[in-house]
Amino acid sequence: MASLEAVDVVIVGAGISGLCAAYELLKKRPQTNLVVLEAKDRVGGRLDSIELKTAKGSDRWDIGGQWVSRSQKVITSLLEELDVEIYNQWSNGSKIMHGSDDVITTYSSPFPPLSYVALLDLWWFTYKVENLCQEVPIDDPSKCPHAAEWDGMTLETWKHQSIWTNIVKEVLDTVVGIVFGVTPSQMSLLFFLHYLHCSGGWSIIVDSSVKGHAQEWRIKGTAHRVTELLAGRLGRDRLILSHPVTSIKQENEHVFVSSLVGQSYKAKSVILAIPPHLAGQIEFSPPLPYNKQRLIQNMPPSHLIKFVATYATAFWRKAGLSGDMARSTAKGVCENNPVAITFDGTTSDGSPAILGFVTSYAAAKWSTETDEMKKKAILKALKLYFGQEAEHPLDFCVKDWSKETWNGGCPVNVMVPGAVINYGDCLREPFHR
Ligand SMILES: Cc1cc2nc3c(=O)[nH]c(=O)nc-3n(C[C@H](O)[C@H](O)[C@H](O)COP(=O)(O)OP(=O)(O)OC[C@H]3O[C@@H](n4cnc5c(N)ncnc54)[C@H](O)[C@@H]3O)c2cc1C
Repeated sequence: MASLEAVDVVIVGAGISGLCAAYELLKKRPQTNLVVLEAKDRVGGRLDSIELKTAKGSDRWDIGGQWVSRSQKVITSLLEELDVEIYNQWSNGSKIMHGSDDVITTYSSPFPPLSYVALLDLWWFTYKVENLCQEVPIDDPSKCPHAAEWDGMTLETWKHQSIWTNIVKEVLDTVVGIVFGVTPSQMSLLFFLHYLHCSGGWSIIVDSSVKGHAQEWRIKGTAHRVTELLAGRLGRDRLILSHPVTSIKQENEHVFVSSLVGQSYKAKSVILAIPPHLAGQIEFSPPLPYNKQRLIQNMPPSHLIKFVATYATAFWRKAGLSGDMARSTAKGVCENNPVAITFDGTTSDGSPAILGFVTSYAAAKWSTETDEMKKKAILKALKLYFGQEAEHPLDFCVKDWSKETWNGGCPVNVMVPGAVINYGDCLREPFHR
Protein backbone atom coordinates (compact mmCIF):
# COMPACT_ATOMS: atom_id res chain seq x y z
CA MET A 1 0.00 0.00 0.00
CA ALA A 2 1.26 3.53 -0.84
CA SER A 3 2.56 5.47 2.18
CA LEU A 4 3.57 9.09 2.85
CA GLU A 5 6.54 10.06 5.04
CA ALA A 6 7.39 13.64 6.07
CA VAL A 7 11.05 14.76 5.87
CA ASP A 8 12.95 18.06 5.51
CA VAL A 9 14.85 17.26 2.33
CA VAL A 10 14.60 14.61 -0.41
CA ILE A 11 17.72 14.09 -2.52
CA VAL A 12 17.12 12.25 -5.80
CA GLY A 13 20.11 10.16 -6.97
CA ALA A 14 22.80 8.35 -4.94
CA GLY A 15 25.73 9.04 -7.26
CA ILE A 16 28.70 11.00 -5.91
CA SER A 17 26.72 14.29 -6.31
CA GLY A 18 23.63 13.22 -4.37
CA LEU A 19 25.66 11.51 -1.64
CA CYS A 20 27.93 14.56 -1.28
CA ALA A 21 24.86 16.83 -1.07
CA ALA A 22 23.54 14.69 1.80
CA TYR A 23 26.96 14.50 3.50
CA GLU A 24 27.56 18.28 3.32
CA LEU A 25 24.02 19.10 4.44
CA LEU A 26 24.30 16.84 7.48
CA LYS A 27 27.74 18.30 8.33
CA LYS A 28 26.24 21.80 8.40
CA ARG A 29 22.84 20.89 9.91
CA PRO A 30 23.05 17.51 11.68
CA GLN A 31 19.38 17.68 12.72
CA THR A 32 18.16 17.68 9.09
CA ASN A 33 15.73 14.87 8.42
CA LEU A 34 16.64 13.75 4.91
CA VAL A 35 16.35 10.77 2.58
CA VAL A 36 18.25 9.93 -0.61
CA LEU A 37 16.07 8.14 -3.17
CA GLU A 38 18.03 6.03 -5.67
CA ALA A 39 16.56 4.23 -8.70
CA LYS A 40 19.17 1.43 -8.85
CA ASP A 41 19.79 -1.27 -6.28
CA ARG A 42 23.28 0.14 -5.65
CA VAL A 43 24.93 3.48 -4.92
CA GLY A 44 27.53 5.17 -7.14
CA GLY A 45 25.74 5.91 -10.43
CA ARG A 46 28.51 6.45 -12.98
CA LEU A 47 30.98 5.17 -10.39
CA ASP A 48 30.82 1.38 -10.41
CA SER A 49 33.32 -1.44 -9.85
CA ILE A 50 33.79 -5.10 -10.63
CA GLU A 51 35.76 -7.99 -9.15
CA LEU A 52 37.97 -9.79 -11.69
CA LYS A 53 40.27 -12.82 -11.51
CA THR A 54 44.00 -12.28 -10.92
CA ALA A 55 47.00 -14.61 -10.53
CA LYS A 56 46.65 -14.33 -6.71
CA GLY A 57 42.86 -14.66 -6.58
CA SER A 58 40.87 -11.54 -7.36
CA ASP A 59 40.94 -7.75 -7.19
CA ARG A 60 38.53 -4.85 -7.91
CA TRP A 61 38.55 -2.41 -10.80
CA ASP A 62 36.53 0.69 -11.56
CA ILE A 63 34.36 0.13 -14.60
CA GLY A 64 33.08 3.73 -14.45
CA GLY A 65 34.95 6.94 -13.49
CA GLN A 66 38.33 6.33 -11.86
CA TRP A 67 40.96 9.10 -12.17
CA VAL A 68 41.37 12.15 -9.97
CA SER A 69 44.07 14.79 -9.97
CA ARG A 70 45.29 17.71 -7.86
CA SER A 71 43.32 19.98 -10.24
CA GLN A 72 40.07 18.42 -8.87
CA LYS A 73 40.23 20.15 -5.50
CA VAL A 74 36.77 19.25 -4.16
CA ILE A 75 37.06 15.49 -4.63
CA THR A 76 40.68 15.38 -3.43
CA SER A 77 39.80 17.19 -0.19
CA LEU A 78 36.86 14.78 0.29
CA LEU A 79 39.26 11.84 -0.14
CA GLU A 80 41.50 13.31 2.59
CA GLU A 81 38.51 13.80 4.87
CA LEU A 82 37.39 10.18 4.33
CA ASP A 83 40.97 8.94 4.75
CA VAL A 84 41.00 7.33 1.30
CA GLU A 85 44.43 6.86 -0.27
CA ILE A 86 45.40 7.58 -3.85
CA TYR A 87 48.22 6.21 -6.04
CA ASN A 88 49.94 7.32 -9.23
CA GLN A 89 48.67 6.26 -12.63
CA TRP A 90 51.51 4.21 -14.15
CA SER A 91 52.91 5.95 -17.23
CA ASN A 92 56.60 4.94 -17.33
CA GLY A 93 57.78 3.60 -20.66
CA SER A 94 57.02 4.21 -24.31
CA LYS A 95 53.60 5.16 -25.61
CA ILE A 96 51.94 3.92 -28.79
CA MET A 97 50.24 6.02 -31.49
CA HIS A 98 48.09 4.44 -34.21
CA GLY A 99 47.25 6.92 -37.00
CA SER A 100 44.42 6.81 -39.54
CA ASP A 101 47.12 5.87 -42.14
CA ASP A 102 47.37 2.60 -40.13
CA VAL A 103 50.97 3.32 -39.10
CA ILE A 104 51.74 2.27 -35.50
CA THR A 105 54.57 4.23 -33.81
CA THR A 106 56.09 3.99 -30.33
CA TYR A 107 57.60 7.08 -28.70
CA SER A 108 58.92 8.18 -25.33
CA SER A 109 58.78 12.00 -25.68
CA PRO A 110 55.81 13.88 -24.11
CA PHE A 111 54.44 14.53 -27.64
CA PRO A 112 53.77 12.03 -30.43
CA PRO A 113 56.32 11.86 -33.27
CA LEU A 114 54.83 14.41 -35.69
CA SER A 115 56.30 16.32 -38.63
CA TYR A 116 57.64 19.83 -37.90
CA VAL A 117 54.55 21.33 -39.56
CA ALA A 118 52.21 19.21 -37.44
CA LEU A 119 54.17 20.02 -34.26
CA LEU A 120 53.91 23.72 -35.06
CA ASP A 121 50.18 23.26 -35.73
CA LEU A 122 49.75 21.44 -32.41
CA TRP A 123 51.71 24.13 -30.56
CA TRP A 124 49.64 26.91 -32.19
CA PHE A 125 46.35 25.06 -31.49
CA THR A 126 47.36 24.56 -27.83
CA TYR A 127 48.32 28.23 -27.48
CA LYS A 128 44.99 29.37 -28.98
CA VAL A 129 42.76 27.01 -27.02
CA GLU A 130 44.53 27.74 -23.71
CA ASN A 131 43.94 31.47 -24.27
CA LEU A 132 40.39 31.24 -25.58
CA CYS A 133 39.18 29.11 -22.68
CA GLN A 134 40.41 31.79 -20.24
CA GLU A 135 37.92 34.19 -21.84
CA VAL A 136 34.93 32.05 -20.76
CA PRO A 137 33.88 32.94 -17.19
CA ILE A 138 33.58 29.83 -15.04
CA ASP A 139 30.57 31.18 -13.11
CA ASP A 140 28.57 32.18 -16.16
CA PRO A 141 29.87 31.22 -19.64
CA SER A 142 27.13 33.29 -21.31
CA LYS A 143 28.96 36.43 -20.09
CA CYS A 144 31.92 35.63 -22.38
CA PRO A 145 32.38 38.54 -24.86
CA HIS A 146 32.23 36.02 -27.76
CA ALA A 147 29.42 33.92 -26.29
CA ALA A 148 26.98 34.26 -29.21
CA GLU A 149 29.62 33.51 -31.84
CA TRP A 150 31.19 30.57 -30.00
CA ASP A 151 27.89 29.03 -28.89
CA GLY A 152 26.65 29.42 -32.48
CA MET A 153 29.16 26.88 -33.82
CA THR A 154 30.23 23.33 -33.15
CA LEU A 155 33.75 22.45 -32.11
CA GLU A 156 33.97 20.67 -35.49
CA THR A 157 33.44 23.95 -37.40
CA TRP A 158 36.08 25.69 -35.32
CA LYS A 159 38.45 22.71 -35.74
CA HIS A 160 38.44 23.16 -39.53
CA GLN A 161 38.89 26.93 -39.20
CA SER A 162 41.75 26.70 -36.72
CA ILE A 163 43.78 23.53 -37.34
CA TRP A 164 45.76 23.08 -40.58
CA THR A 165 46.92 19.46 -40.47
CA ASN A 166 44.80 16.29 -40.52
CA ILE A 167 46.91 14.66 -37.83
CA VAL A 168 46.26 17.46 -35.28
CA LYS A 169 42.54 17.34 -36.17
CA GLU A 170 42.69 13.62 -35.36
CA VAL A 171 44.43 14.33 -32.03
CA LEU A 172 41.55 16.66 -31.12
CA ASP A 173 38.97 14.04 -32.18
CA THR A 174 40.62 11.34 -30.03
CA VAL A 175 40.89 13.61 -26.95
CA VAL A 176 37.28 14.82 -27.31
CA GLY A 177 36.14 11.20 -27.75
CA ILE A 178 37.67 10.10 -24.46
CA VAL A 179 37.07 13.24 -22.35
CA PHE A 180 33.54 14.05 -23.55
CA GLY A 181 32.35 10.78 -25.17
CA VAL A 182 31.23 12.63 -28.33
CA THR A 183 32.68 13.83 -31.64
CA PRO A 184 33.50 17.58 -32.03
CA SER A 185 30.43 17.86 -34.30
CA GLN A 186 28.12 17.13 -31.35
CA MET A 187 29.09 19.95 -29.01
CA SER A 188 29.04 23.77 -28.79
CA LEU A 189 32.47 25.44 -28.98
CA LEU A 190 31.51 27.66 -26.03
CA PHE A 191 30.57 24.61 -23.92
CA PHE A 192 33.91 22.95 -24.83
CA LEU A 193 35.92 26.06 -23.84
CA HIS A 194 33.95 26.48 -20.60
CA TYR A 195 34.59 22.84 -19.67
CA LEU A 196 38.32 23.32 -20.37
CA HIS A 197 38.47 26.45 -18.21
CA CYS A 198 36.68 24.65 -15.33
CA SER A 199 39.15 21.73 -15.65
CA GLY A 200 42.28 23.88 -15.69
CA GLY A 201 42.87 24.01 -19.45
CA TRP A 202 43.73 21.83 -22.45
CA SER A 203 47.20 20.74 -21.27
CA ILE A 204 45.78 19.50 -17.95
CA ILE A 205 43.47 17.25 -19.94
CA VAL A 206 45.95 15.88 -22.50
CA ASP A 207 49.53 16.21 -21.34
CA SER A 208 50.63 13.56 -18.83
CA SER A 209 53.87 15.51 -18.17
CA VAL A 210 51.87 18.43 -16.67
CA LYS A 211 51.34 18.39 -12.88
CA GLY A 212 47.65 17.89 -12.11
CA HIS A 213 46.79 16.28 -15.45
CA ALA A 214 43.44 14.52 -15.63
CA GLN A 215 44.77 10.96 -15.31
CA GLU A 216 47.20 11.71 -12.49
CA TRP A 217 45.96 9.48 -9.66
CA ARG A 218 43.77 6.46 -9.01
CA ILE A 219 41.91 5.72 -5.81
CA LYS A 220 42.95 2.76 -3.64
CA GLY A 221 40.12 0.25 -3.47
CA THR A 222 38.35 1.99 -6.44
CA ALA A 223 36.57 5.33 -6.87
CA HIS A 224 33.28 3.47 -6.46
CA ARG A 225 34.22 2.68 -2.85
CA VAL A 226 34.10 6.42 -2.06
CA THR A 227 30.35 6.39 -2.70
CA GLU A 228 29.98 3.29 -0.51
CA LEU A 229 31.88 5.06 2.29
CA LEU A 230 29.62 8.12 1.95
CA ALA A 231 26.56 5.85 2.03
CA GLY A 232 27.93 4.24 5.22
CA ARG A 233 28.37 7.68 6.86
CA LEU A 234 24.83 8.59 5.86
CA GLY A 235 23.32 5.48 7.45
CA ARG A 236 21.33 2.93 5.50
CA ASP A 237 17.98 4.17 6.91
CA ARG A 238 18.44 7.49 5.10
CA LEU A 239 19.29 5.75 1.83
CA ILE A 240 16.36 4.26 -0.08
CA LEU A 241 17.53 2.06 -2.97
CA SER A 242 15.40 0.73 -5.87
CA HIS A 243 13.09 3.77 -5.68
CA PRO A 244 13.01 5.57 -9.05
CA VAL A 245 11.37 8.97 -8.58
CA THR A 246 8.52 9.39 -11.06
CA SER A 247 6.73 12.55 -9.97
CA ILE A 248 7.43 15.78 -8.08
CA LYS A 249 4.44 17.89 -7.12
CA GLN A 250 5.01 21.32 -5.56
CA GLU A 251 2.50 23.17 -3.36
CA ASN A 252 3.06 26.39 -1.41
CA GLU A 253 4.53 24.87 1.73
CA HIS A 254 5.64 21.41 0.59
CA VAL A 255 6.87 19.22 -2.23
CA PHE A 256 5.49 15.71 -2.73
CA VAL A 257 7.95 13.23 -4.23
CA SER A 258 6.67 9.85 -5.43
CA SER A 259 8.55 6.80 -6.59
CA LEU A 260 7.67 3.97 -8.96
CA VAL A 261 7.12 1.60 -6.04
CA GLY A 262 4.39 3.75 -4.50
CA GLN A 263 6.32 5.29 -1.60
CA SER A 264 5.82 9.10 -1.30
CA TYR A 265 7.66 11.77 0.68
CA LYS A 266 6.46 15.19 1.80
CA ALA A 267 9.48 17.53 2.01
CA LYS A 268 10.39 21.18 2.39
CA SER A 269 13.00 20.99 -0.39
CA VAL A 270 14.19 18.62 -3.10
CA ILE A 271 17.66 18.33 -4.61
CA LEU A 272 17.84 16.62 -8.02
CA ALA A 273 21.28 15.02 -8.39
CA ILE A 274 20.64 13.08 -11.60
CA PRO A 275 21.95 13.44 -15.17
CA PRO A 276 20.06 16.41 -16.73
CA HIS A 277 18.35 14.40 -19.52
CA LEU A 278 16.81 12.04 -16.94
CA ALA A 279 14.99 14.92 -15.23
CA GLY A 280 12.87 14.94 -18.40
CA GLN A 281 11.46 11.53 -17.39
CA ILE A 282 10.01 12.88 -14.13
CA GLU A 283 6.49 14.31 -14.13
CA PHE A 284 6.57 17.79 -12.59
CA SER A 285 3.54 19.65 -11.29
CA PRO A 286 3.55 22.54 -12.00
CA PRO A 287 5.66 21.75 -15.09
CA LEU A 288 9.31 22.84 -15.16
CA PRO A 289 9.79 26.36 -16.60
CA TYR A 290 10.01 26.32 -20.42
CA ASN A 291 13.74 27.23 -20.52
CA LYS A 292 14.61 24.48 -18.06
CA GLN A 293 12.76 21.95 -20.21
CA ARG A 294 14.62 23.14 -23.31
CA LEU A 295 17.93 22.94 -21.44
CA ILE A 296 17.28 19.31 -20.51
CA GLN A 297 16.44 18.53 -24.16
CA ASN A 298 19.65 20.22 -25.34
CA MET A 299 22.05 18.40 -23.00
CA PRO A 300 22.33 14.87 -24.44
CA PRO A 301 24.37 12.21 -22.65
CA SER A 302 27.58 11.09 -24.35
CA HIS A 303 28.80 7.56 -25.04
CA LEU A 304 31.77 5.51 -23.79
CA ILE A 305 32.37 1.78 -23.60
CA LYS A 306 35.00 0.85 -20.99
CA PHE A 307 36.92 -2.44 -20.71
CA VAL A 308 39.39 -4.05 -18.30
CA ALA A 309 41.59 -7.09 -19.11
CA THR A 310 43.58 -8.69 -16.26
CA TYR A 311 46.85 -10.62 -16.71
CA ALA A 312 49.28 -12.73 -14.66
CA THR A 313 52.14 -10.28 -15.36
CA ALA A 314 52.50 -6.72 -16.65
CA PHE A 315 54.36 -8.06 -19.72
CA TRP A 316 54.06 -4.72 -21.57
CA ARG A 317 56.17 -3.04 -18.86
CA LYS A 318 58.92 -5.63 -19.39
CA ALA A 319 58.79 -4.74 -23.10
CA GLY A 320 59.40 -1.06 -22.19
CA LEU A 321 55.80 0.03 -22.88
CA SER A 322 53.73 2.19 -20.55
CA GLY A 323 50.39 0.68 -21.58
CA ASP A 324 49.31 4.03 -23.11
CA MET A 325 47.97 3.74 -26.64
CA ALA A 326 45.98 6.37 -28.55
CA ARG A 327 44.43 5.81 -31.91
CA SER A 328 42.72 7.89 -34.55
CA THR A 329 38.95 7.78 -34.09
CA ALA A 330 38.20 9.06 -37.62
CA LYS A 331 35.01 7.66 -39.14
CA GLY A 332 35.72 4.47 -41.08
CA VAL A 333 38.85 3.40 -39.17
CA CYS A 334 36.91 1.61 -36.42
CA GLU A 335 35.27 -1.11 -38.53
CA ASN A 336 37.46 -3.94 -37.22
CA ASN A 337 39.24 -2.29 -34.29
CA PRO A 338 37.02 -0.60 -31.69
CA VAL A 339 39.76 0.53 -29.26
CA ALA A 340 40.47 4.30 -29.11
CA ILE A 341 42.74 4.50 -26.09
CA THR A 342 44.36 2.27 -23.44
CA PHE A 343 46.15 2.72 -20.13
CA ASP A 344 48.02 0.55 -17.65
CA GLY A 345 45.27 -0.57 -15.26
CA THR A 346 47.44 -2.27 -12.62
CA THR A 347 45.90 -1.83 -9.16
CA SER A 348 47.58 -0.52 -5.98
CA ASP A 349 47.89 -4.17 -4.89
CA GLY A 350 49.93 -4.89 -8.03
CA SER A 351 47.31 -6.87 -9.99
CA PRO A 352 48.28 -6.28 -13.65
CA ALA A 353 45.66 -5.06 -16.11
CA ILE A 354 45.15 -3.03 -19.28
CA LEU A 355 42.06 -0.85 -19.42
CA GLY A 356 40.68 1.24 -22.22
CA PHE A 357 37.78 2.87 -23.98
CA VAL A 358 35.74 2.63 -27.15
CA THR A 359 34.57 6.14 -28.13
CA SER A 360 32.68 8.28 -30.66
CA TYR A 361 31.83 6.56 -34.02
CA ALA A 362 33.26 3.26 -32.77
CA ALA A 363 31.09 3.36 -29.61
CA ALA A 364 27.96 3.81 -31.75
CA LYS A 365 28.96 1.00 -34.12
CA TRP A 366 30.14 -1.50 -31.49
CA SER A 367 27.13 -0.86 -29.22
CA THR A 368 25.08 -2.94 -31.65
CA GLU A 369 27.39 -5.98 -31.19
CA THR A 370 27.19 -8.54 -28.37
CA ASP A 371 29.63 -8.28 -25.44
CA GLU A 372 31.31 -11.47 -26.75
CA MET A 373 31.92 -9.81 -30.15
CA LYS A 374 33.22 -6.66 -28.43
CA LYS A 375 35.58 -8.77 -26.28
CA LYS A 376 36.95 -10.64 -29.31
CA ALA A 377 37.61 -7.42 -31.25
CA ILE A 378 39.11 -5.59 -28.25
CA LEU A 379 41.51 -8.47 -27.42
CA LYS A 380 42.58 -8.67 -31.07
CA ALA A 381 43.40 -4.94 -30.90
CA LEU A 382 45.34 -5.38 -27.63
CA LYS A 383 47.39 -8.15 -29.31
CA LEU A 384 48.23 -5.72 -32.13
CA TYR A 385 49.62 -3.16 -29.66
CA PHE A 386 51.06 -5.26 -26.81
CA GLY A 387 51.81 -8.66 -28.37
CA GLN A 388 50.50 -12.24 -28.28
CA GLU A 389 50.01 -12.42 -24.47
CA ALA A 390 47.48 -9.58 -24.56
CA GLU A 391 44.97 -11.78 -26.38
CA HIS A 392 44.73 -14.20 -23.43
CA PRO A 393 43.71 -12.31 -20.27
CA LEU A 394 42.93 -14.05 -16.98
CA ASP A 395 39.62 -12.19 -16.90
CA PHE A 396 37.83 -9.52 -18.91
CA CYS A 397 34.95 -7.08 -18.49
CA VAL A 398 33.34 -4.66 -20.94
CA LYS A 399 30.62 -2.17 -19.98
CA ASP A 400 28.58 -0.19 -22.49
CA TRP A 401 27.33 2.81 -20.50
CA SER A 402 24.70 3.73 -23.09
CA LYS A 403 22.84 0.57 -22.00
CA GLU A 404 22.92 1.40 -18.27
CA THR A 405 19.38 2.17 -17.11
CA TRP A 406 19.14 5.42 -15.10
CA ASN A 407 22.27 6.77 -16.80
CA GLY A 408 21.99 6.18 -20.56
CA GLY A 409 25.48 7.35 -21.37
CA CYS A 410 28.68 8.77 -20.01
CA PRO A 411 31.01 10.28 -18.94
CA VAL A 412 29.06 13.58 -19.08
CA ASN A 413 26.13 15.40 -20.69
CA VAL A 414 27.25 17.92 -23.31
CA MET A 415 25.57 21.11 -24.55
CA VAL A 416 24.66 21.44 -28.22
CA PRO A 417 25.12 24.80 -30.05
CA GLY A 418 22.82 27.52 -28.70
CA ALA A 419 22.17 25.79 -25.38
CA VAL A 420 24.63 27.79 -23.26
CA ILE A 421 23.46 31.27 -24.28
CA ASN A 422 19.75 30.45 -24.53
CA TYR A 423 19.15 28.17 -21.53
CA GLY A 424 22.47 27.76 -19.65
CA ASP A 425 21.55 30.24 -16.90
CA CYS A 426 18.77 27.98 -15.62
CA LEU A 427 21.07 24.96 -15.05
CA ARG A 428 21.50 25.86 -11.37
CA GLU A 429 18.45 28.12 -11.00
CA PRO A 430 16.09 26.61 -8.36
CA PHE A 431 12.44 26.09 -9.34
CA HIS A 432 10.50 27.04 -6.18
CA ARG A 433 11.41 24.38 -3.63
C1 LIG B 1 33.33 5.07 -18.01
C2 LIG B 1 33.42 6.39 -17.27
C3 LIG B 1 34.65 6.98 -17.08
C4 LIG B 1 34.75 8.20 -16.38
N1 LIG B 1 35.99 8.66 -16.04
C5 LIG B 1 36.11 9.68 -15.15
C6 LIG B 1 37.35 9.98 -14.54
O1 LIG B 1 38.34 9.28 -14.75
N2 LIG B 1 37.43 11.06 -13.72
C7 LIG B 1 36.32 11.82 -13.43
O2 LIG B 1 36.43 12.78 -12.67
N3 LIG B 1 35.11 11.52 -13.95
C8 LIG B 1 34.97 10.45 -14.76
N4 LIG B 1 33.74 10.07 -15.24
C9 LIG B 1 32.59 10.92 -14.91
C10 LIG B 1 32.10 10.71 -13.47
O3 LIG B 1 32.01 9.34 -13.20
C11 LIG B 1 30.74 11.39 -13.33
O4 LIG B 1 30.88 12.76 -13.62
C12 LIG B 1 30.17 11.28 -11.92
O5 LIG B 1 30.25 9.97 -11.42
C13 LIG B 1 28.72 11.77 -11.97
O6 LIG B 1 28.16 11.67 -10.68
P1 LIG B 1 26.67 12.19 -10.38
O7 LIG B 1 26.36 11.82 -9.01
O8 LIG B 1 26.59 13.61 -10.78
O9 LIG B 1 25.76 11.41 -11.43
P2 LIG B 1 25.47 9.84 -11.51
O10 LIG B 1 26.68 9.09 -11.11
O11 LIG B 1 24.93 9.59 -12.87
O12 LIG B 1 24.39 9.60 -10.39
C14 LIG B 1 23.04 9.87 -10.60
C15 LIG B 1 22.22 8.84 -9.86
O13 LIG B 1 20.85 9.18 -9.99
C16 LIG B 1 20.10 8.00 -10.17
N5 LIG B 1 18.83 8.36 -10.82
C17 LIG B 1 18.60 8.77 -12.08
N6 LIG B 1 17.31 9.03 -12.28
C18 LIG B 1 16.69 8.78 -11.10
C19 LIG B 1 15.32 8.86 -10.65
N7 LIG B 1 14.34 9.26 -11.46
N8 LIG B 1 15.05 8.52 -9.37
C20 LIG B 1 16.03 8.13 -8.52
N9 LIG B 1 17.32 8.02 -8.89
C21 LIG B 1 17.65 8.36 -10.16
C22 LIG B 1 21.00 7.11 -11.02
O14 LIG B 1 20.64 5.76 -10.88
C23 LIG B 1 22.38 7.43 -10.43
O15 LIG B 1 22.72 6.53 -9.40
C24 LIG B 1 33.59 8.86 -15.92
C25 LIG B 1 32.34 8.25 -16.11
C26 LIG B 1 32.27 7.02 -16.74
C27 LIG B 1 30.94 6.33 -16.82
